[in-house]
Amino acid sequence: MKTGRKKRPAFRMTPQRAGILRFLDGNGSHPSAEEIYRRVAGRFPGLSFATVYNTLQSLVSLGELAELKIDPSRARFDPCTLRHSHLLCVECGAIADVKAPPKPPPPAGRPAGFRVLSCNIEFYGVCPACGKRAGKKEKRPCTKKRTK
Ligand SMILES: [Zn+2]
Ligand SMILES: [Zn+2]
Repeated sequence: MKTGRKKRPAFRMTPQRAGILRFLDGNGSHPSAEEIYRRVAGRFPGLSFATVYNTLQSLVSLGELAELKIDPSRARFDPCTLRHSHLLCVECGAIADVKAPPKPPPPAGRPAGFRVLSCNIEFYGVCPACGKRAGKKEKRPCTKKRTK
């Protein structure tokens, strides 16, 4: 018997947790906790938002799930934990995966002795669908007359 090694509490698999994992598996939409709850709750009538939230936090602490801070309005979750960057559409909140750009050199002007450990680069913009919508709005003059 091995002793002296601290073991993390095991992730207890329950049908609800399995359902959350299945929903997240290969999911590239970077859903929020609320979205995950809405999509999974239908299949598990007793499932509470707290259970979903706690499950997500356990998965994050186990390194199985990444919690993204790119969206200022809510935390978003990513089952892909490999190094990559994100594009956030500031209009609709859609997040797309992109290759992480090469790491920049440590910033000039940092306090002496400050060791830079990591750097997170995320991109903000407008997705093609929102770009098209905005283009249409500009072309159409604002009139109160409605034909339909
Ligand atoms: Zn958009
Ligand atoms: Zn991602």
